[in-house]
Amino acid sequence: MIMAPKAVQKVLDGFYWILAREAMLPDSNIFLVADGNRFVLFDAGLQNFYQETVLAIRDLGLNLRDLNRLILTHTHLDHSGSTPLFQKDAKNVEIWVSEEEGSFLEQGDDTVVYGSMLGNRLPPIEVAKKLHDGDVVEVGDFTFQVLHTPGHSIGSLCFYEPNHQLLISGDVVFRHGSFGRADLPTGNGKQLTQSIARLAELPVEMLLPGHMGIALKGGQREIQLSLQFARQVF
Ligand SMILES: [Zn+2]
Repeated sequence: MIMAPKAVQKVLDGFYWILAREAMLPDSNIFLVADGNRFVLFDAGLQNFYQETVLAIRDLGLNLRDLNRLILTHTHLDHSGSTPLFQKDAKNVEIWVSEEEGSFLEQGDDTVVYGSMLGNRLPPIEVAKKLHDGDVVEVGDFTFQVLHTPGHSIGSLCFYEPNHQLLISGDVVFRHGSFGRADLPTGNGKQLTQSIARLAELPVEMLLPGHMGIALKGGQREIQLSLQFARQVF
């Protein structure tokens, strides 16, 4: 079978969306952001689709050795599964993840990573930086504010870029009033609702979630709709 690269869509100059593979197994969106002459990935995707991700990165004219940071919104396997493969191929990539979930990766703990359910536990992974609410992450032309937004998982992070009114929202909120599940280990529906309420206050145009589509405009309205539905469910 000939392997096809994942589809890629440009979001802004130096900012690309590598679309999740639509398949039986869950995969996550990946966001690639230029960082000088290197680049950063937000989320790694499922390991089963790693080769398709690499082909998409190469199609952008980039080389894996220039991947300097892999920043995870959270550690569920559909977002983190390709991490060891990137570490092997990119050599000098740093893994950045929340304080709360970094230890799960370091210990190879499966509770939150959820690998056994998806047939592939991760080996222990070295974490270079553990992120906290209020941290600022500079990537090329973009300055992200780190928001700790638990509820889908204990250490779920969102990354807000105020200059572009852009939010990388992981599995906290999706488009069209949808939101992450709260019934997996360390999930909590009330916390999730509180996290969405916090996001709903932000002036967001571009909403870039971990699954399904992205919104280039009107992100805040979509988050407010998610909040409305979450309040009905939790
Ligand atoms: Zn998740």
